[in-house]
Amino acid sequence: MTLTTNLGFPRIGARRELKHALESHWRGDTPAADLQATARELRARHWALQRESGIDLPPSNDFSLYDQVLDTAFLFDAIPQRYRALADADPLAGYFALARGYQRDGIDLHALEMTKWFDTNYHYLVPELEAGQRFALRGDKPVAEYLEAKALGIDTRPVLIGPVTFLWLAKTVDDSDRFALLEHLLPAYAQLLEKLHIAGAQWVQIDEPALVLDLPEASRAAFRKAYAALADGVRPKLLLAGYFGGLGDNLELAASLPVDGMHVDLVRAPEELETVLATLPDDRVLSAGLVDGRNIWRTRLDNALLLARYARTRLGDERLWLAPSCSLLHVPVDLDGEKSLDAELKSWLSFAKQKLGEIRVLANALDGREDAEAALEDARARIESRKASPRVHRPEVAARLASLAADADRRQSPYPVRRRAQDAALDLPPYPTTTIGSFPQTHEVREARAKFKSGKLSEADYEAFLETETEKCVRYQERIGIDVLVHGEFERNDMVEYFGEQLDGFAFTKLGWVQSYGSRCVKPPIIFGDVVRPAPMTVRWSRFAQSLTALPMKGMLTGPVTVLQWSFVRDDQPRADTCRQIALALRDEVTDLEAAGIGIIQIDEPALREGLPLRRAQWQAYLDWAVHSFRLTASGVGDATQIHTHMCYSEFNDIIEAVAAMDADVISIETSRSRMELLDAFVTFRYPNGIGPGVYDIHSPRIPTTAEMVELLGKARAVLAPEQVWVNPDCGLKTRGWAETGAALERMVEAARALRGSSALAT
Ligand code: GLN
Ligand code: ZN
Repeated sequence: MTLTTNLGFPRIGARRELKHALESHWRGDTPAADLQATARELRARHWALQRESGIDLPPSNDFSLYDQVLDTAFLFDAIPQRYRALADADPLAGYFALARGYQRDGIDLHALEMTKWFDTNYHYLVPELEAGQRFALRGDKPVAEYLEAKALGIDTRPVLIGPVTFLWLAKTVDDSDRFALLEHLLPAYAQLLEKLHIAGAQWVQIDEPALVLDLPEASRAAFRKAYAALADGVRPKLLLAGYFGGLGDNLELAASLPVDGMHVDLVRAPEELETVLATLPDDRVLSAGLVDGRNIWRTRLDNALLLARYARTRLGDERLWLAPSCSLLHVPVDLDGEKSLDAELKSWLSFAKQKLGEIRVLANALDGREDAEAALEDARARIESRKASPRVHRPEVAARLASLAADADRRQSPYPVRRRAQDAALDLPPYPTTTIGSFPQTHEVREARAKFKSGKLSEADYEAFLETETEKCVRYQERIGIDVLVHGEFERNDMVEYFGEQLDGFAFTKLGWVQSYGSRCVKPPIIFGDVVRPAPMTVRWSRFAQSLTALPMKGMLTGPVTVLQWSFVRDDQPRADTCRQIALALRDEVTDLEAAGIGIIQIDEPALREGLPLRRAQWQAYLDWAVHSFRLTASGVGDATQIHTHMCYSEFNDIIEAVAAMDADVISIETSRSRMELLDAFVTFRYPNGIGPGVYDIHSPRIPTTAEMVELLGKARAVLAPEQVWVNPDCGLKTRGWAETGAALERMVEAARALRGSSALAT
């Protein structure tokens, strides 16, 4: 009998029960005991669901009240000094303080930094460590949750983040070597493993996704040292889990570690199976990740079965387990909850619960059970219907892409020529001021949208409301002296959803929530088919806003790479192809805006950096098609039309050449949090076009002084030519209130004026 297993289950709940319980607790409406009760109920429900779906060995300790990396830091007592008193007095309050900061009774603690978990849209909290850091077991979460499941009659495999990945994800506040802390950390791991063994756990899953990255020798050495140390103790068997890619040059290292089993991601790296089988020592179990934990499509079971059968002939039935490619944290819980998706589309999809069912079918087929045949047949029929569906394949899209001129991704003239045409057309002052697009999405704006969606507000009344808001926003910008205006984006809910809803080839779920961080969830659109733009999407609002003013109004679009990155993308063609399709649809929007008299158009690409593959060797291929897609979107316009782009919150220094290759006339980019560190890149690399380094951090309610902004602009001036520099905040203002937005923007305009007045301009 083939054993089926799972690496992790979404913890937020099919109806976001955990989110609601957390937020109610944080507001002070419910005591900790209620929150813990909800958490326990969710764990029990999810274990039962996994067993009912046919999973022999479900995980435990995959649950978290906020984040699994924070759990690990807390578990090993890696708690920075500033939180310690609170964490000792009230562990739960201390835990949430690390996650969210704490401001009460004269105490003011800022939260840990947050960043993306590998190449997913899940954010983890970055543990803060320091030289000489001590670790110890604090609490017994993994043991308690193992016993909790056991009391329900379910044997589980506790999941831990492995010591090397944990240190890899952490940072040292004093810049000391993280891996030097390994020897202090390992005894705590060993102690925990012993406790789990005593509690009765047969296996422990040790997640080491760092194994799919480019590892420097120091980290490889850390792996060898860590697992040699853990091998000896009294402990359960260890399943070492790598995922989010192939092990590649780390395969031999992984196989050489003294563990009892290895999990590999055969969805991202099916081609690796052969070498894995050849390298895996004879006494190891292989957990084969055959069902995609990162996407919502049904598995091509015949293909997966081929791999499984092959592995089985080599390993026998004792040593092969079947699993999803990674934790199912990254997909929604249950497709059955979707009542308004049409039946055909639904038949192509698979959420967490359905994916576990697929794993069961694979195991049944492998074991030669007859009932598997009907399930395989059903899966085949669904795949065939998707392959042949006219909703998916629109021949005109492929034809248009094929017939594109070779220079379709090139502007008519090089930047210096365009610059002259734009200067003549726009007549902007030096250091022009602008914003990134959205203005505060106030309670009234969100309420009007909700009323319109539920039918309580007529379309005409909603439009009239939006016109009033837009006009207020335009008048406001005119009054304070902004040079390039925006319409405010009041009609938009979300920068991807707004476009997806107007494009063919996109679908939206009702309950397809995925955890982004803590209690925050997102509901990514599903791109299922060829992308077509049936009608203009933004022209109506840009034209209306432009009609109100003589100043230039900037059109505002979300770029193709960002739309792709923040959606569940079809898996039946390369991502690059889907991106090009989106680019073509947006290109038509750009030229329509131009025809409607909009002379400046911004194409936002905040997600460009986060789409980078985990391995450096694959970066260039990605950057090539990503940059090409952006340029395809932007290049249908004349020289005098000014194309802007915007990027935020990532490290751009190592992709600065690709950013320049996008050839936007102006880029606005986050720099204020890092105090313009980004500009270091420009010391050696001459960024050729216009650039607006964000002069204040919109993610904080803090209002910067004019002097601070002048100082930041001064830093920019040191490495950029004066005629390159634009003045803008570092991101959209939709999460802010009007009071602080107004004050900050007025000072920003003052800062620009100060710069214009200074002699610096004469250079
Ligand atoms: N134009 C968008 C806005 O202002 C950009 C958002 C973003 O960068 N994430 O809201
Ligand atoms: Zn931004």
